[in-house]
Amino acid sequence: MTDDLADAVEAELAELSWRLTEPGQRECLRCFLLRMISEFGCDGSHRWTVRWRDLRAPRATGLVPRLQRRGGCCCDCEVMFNVFPEYPATDVILPCAGVLRAGSVAPCDLRRLRKSA
Ligand SMILES: [Zn+2]
Ligand SMILES: [Zn+2]
Repeated sequence: MTDDLADAVEAELAELSWRLTEPGQRECLRCFLLRMISEFGCDGSHRWTVRWRDLRAPRATGLVPRLQRRGGCCCDCEVMFNVFPEYPATDVILPCAGVLRAGSVAPCDLRRLRKSA
C-alpha cells in the first residue's frame, strides 16, 4: 500500500466514524446518548452531550450545566441514568421516535412508537 492510499483509507475511516457519531436530524438527546454509550462507551466526560448540542442545539450554551444540576454531574452516562430515568425496560435499543422540534432536549415518546409498531 502506498502512503497516499493509506492516508486515503485512514481519512475515510475517520470520516465514517464521524458520521456514525452524528445525531439524527430529529434524534433526541437521550436516544443519542444511549446509542453512543452502548457503541463507544462513556469516557467520563460530557463529550456526547456536547457533540449533540454542537450539532443540534448550538445555541443551548447552558445545556450542560442544566443537565448537571439535574443529576448528570460528571459524564454522559450520568445524564442518561439520572436525567432520563424513564426509559422503557427493553433488551434492545429502540429507534428514536423523534422529537417534534429538532434540537429539543425533551426525550422522544417511545411509548407512542411501541403502540404504533
Ligand atoms: Zn459515565
Ligand atoms: Zn429519542
